[in-house]
Amino acid sequence: MGDVILSKVIVKGKIRLKTGLHIGAQRETMEIGGIDNPVIKDPVTGQPYIPGSSLKGKLRSLLEKVKGFKAERNIGTRTNPIYIHACDKSYDEIKNCEICRLFGTSGKDGDNFPARVLVRDAFLTEEFKDKWEEIVEIKYETAIDRITSAANPRPMERVPPGVEFEFEVVYNVEDEETREQDLKNLFSAMKLLEDDYLGGSGSRGYGKVGIIITGIVERPRDYYFGNKDERVLLPTDKIKPSEDGGVRVLEILEKFNEIFKHESS
Ligand SMILES: [Zn+2]
Repeated sequence: MGDVILSKVIVKGKIRLKTGLHIGAQRETMEIGGIDNPVIKDPVTGQPYIPGSSLKGKLRSLLEKVKGFKAERNIGTRTNPIYIHACDKSYDEIKNCEICRLFGTSGKDGDNFPARVLVRDAFLTEEFKDKWEEIVEIKYETAIDRITSAANPRPMERVPPGVEFEFEVVYNVEDEETREQDLKNLFSAMKLLEDDYLGGSGSRGYGKVGIIITGIVERPRDYYFGNKDERVLLPTDKIKPSEDGGVRVLEILEKFNEIFKHESS
C-alpha cells in the first residue's frame, strides 16, 4: 500500500570527512585481539563506502531524539539492540507521524508504511576513487574490555579526514500538505548529523562530517512519461555554490521557502 507519487525531489551532495570514519564491516562479531577491524567496503570495487542504510538510520535517530520521540522498538538483536521509534498504527494514523512518514515503518500488527525518503549508498567522489588504496589507514585503538576491564589494543581501519563521498537522497512527494514539513525535517536531520557523528567510535571523535548540497531537482510525475521537464531547485540565480562546490545545509534551511516554493501554475 502506498500513496500516489506526485513528484520526486532528488538531492545530491557531498559528505566530507572532518575526522576519521569507521563504519565497521562486522558489527556483530568482536574478535578478541582482532587481527583486523575493517571498514565496510564495496565487494565489487573494494573501496570504502557509506551504506545508505547507515546514513538513513542515523538521520532518523537524530530527528527522533530532537523531536522527543521515544525509541521503543528493537530492530537489532537481543545482544545488540538498536531501538528506534516506530508507529504501530493504521496507515492513516502513520501518515500523521513525521518520523514514520519520512523514514517508513514496518507494520508490527498495523500496516506497512514505505519510507518516502530513499538514501543511496555513498561512494567515493571521482577525486578519491583513484587513490583509495592509499587512503584507508590503520589506527591502533585501545578498547577496554567491558567485563574484565583489560586494555586491548586493536588495529582499526578508518577512512581519514578530508575524504569525500557522493550522496543522493530521493524524496517522494505523496501529498502537497506534508511536502514542506518532510523536506524541512530531512534537511534539519542533515544539519543535526553535522553536529553529531557517523559510524562508530563517535565518543572518541570519529565520524564528524560536513555536508554540502550540490544540486536539487524536482521531477513531476509527467516527467517520467516525457511530458514535462524537471525543475531545478538548486542552484538558482540567487543561491549559488560556494568555492567548495556546494551549498551548506544551514543555508538550505534558511532559504527553504525560496528553494522549495511551489511551481506557480
Ligand atoms: Zn511514528
